[in-house]
Amino acid sequence: MHRDLLAANDVLAGKNREIIEGMGAIALNLISAPGSGKTTLLEKTIECLADRVHIGVIEGDIETARDAERIRAKGVPAVQLTTGGACHLDASLVNKGLHALADKLNGGDLDLIFIENVGNLVCPATFYLGEHKRAVLVSVPEGPDKPAKYPRAFMGADLFLITKTDLLPYFDFLVDEARSEALKLNPELEIISLSSVNNDGFDQWITFLEGLLNLTPLAQTP
Ligand code: MG
Ligand code: ZN
Repeated sequence: MHRDLLAANDVLAGKNREIIEGMGAIALNLISAPGSGKTTLLEKTIECLADRVHIGVIEGDIETARDAERIRAKGVPAVQLTTGGACHLDASLVNKGLHALADKLNGGDLDLIFIENVGNLVCPATFYLGEHKRAVLVSVPEGPDKPAKYPRAFMGADLFLITKTDLLPYFDFLVDEARSEALKLNPELEIISLSSVNNDGFDQWITFLEGLLNLTPLAQTP
């Protein structure tokens, strides 16, 4: 039963992928526990890239449209999906989100779509949504043991973002420990530690996105 459900999900996720590529976009699925800083990361990313990149956002939450409102306040089209209790997004919900996003574009195109998953490190890892890349986030206050405790989220990811590094002086979080635990599970994983508050490491994240979009990096000021 569960396997049939996942197989049906994957078929629909393949259709989502076609819709995303039809819009001219690359999609990134962001997975993390609640409160790891996904929406804040997106706000800051939009500030850095929106003059060069057409960004669209699909927000997943159990209730409320607060995150989509925060993104729209940055001038970017955003669709809020509420699961009404379910702790993950699935391909069918994201399919609705993609159609709603397309409606907001009035024929315009997108380069980059962020899908912010429901805050949860467990079942979002098993639902492919049609994304090109998957990022898993762990914030410094959560502790460095998350890769070992939630291996599946890390095995299926392309990128591991360690967020809120501005809080490192106040927490017993060993960045090297988190990195090595994650690499044990997934040696291909790219890892970036960053802060959306003091900008540490943020340039590496922007460089990652530029690479994904085949953009020429902005010239560094000397
Ligand atoms: Mg959020
Ligand atoms: Zn779930």
